Amino acid sequence: TIGMLAIDAKGNLSGACTTSGMAYKLHGRVGDSPIIGAGLYVDNEIGGATSTGVGEEVIRNVGSFLVVELMRQGYSPEDACKEAVMRIIKKKPDIAKKIQVGFLALNKKGEYGAYAIQKGFSYAVCTAQKSDLLIDGKSYY
Ligand code: ASP
Repeated sequence: TIGMLAIDAKGNLSGACTTSGMAYKLHGRVGDSPIIGAGLYVDNEIGGATSTGVGEEVIRNVGSFLVVELMRQGYSPEDACKEAVMRIIKKKPDIAKKIQVGFLALNKKGEYGAYAIQKGFSYAVCTAQKSDLLIDGKSYY
């Protein structure tokens, strides 16, 4: 999945995601990406979130909605993503070791963060001031 979150100069938020789905998926399978609240959710009052990885686990936890609701409660974008990942791990610890699920989030203040089960999760940031690549939260530029 490729998920994108954006904030404009007036602080308006938006998001989008696209996916090819999972390899070897069953015919007719619907992943998390087309389900609002699972693969993508944006609340213009709070922030936005998007996910990648095994969509079934994201759907079960209404993952992107959960991340936004956690930010509503005061979590930073990264902490909200981490908490959503931890819920997935807690429900299915054995399966979670073998799969990837990652979340990316942006809040109304323009703060952003991400967290994933497996190491090496990367995302790009583009602002008027900078372009950056982050891997596991570490900046590469
Ligand atoms: N989240 C997608 C799905 O479950 C897979 C992906 O990350 O592209 O369909």
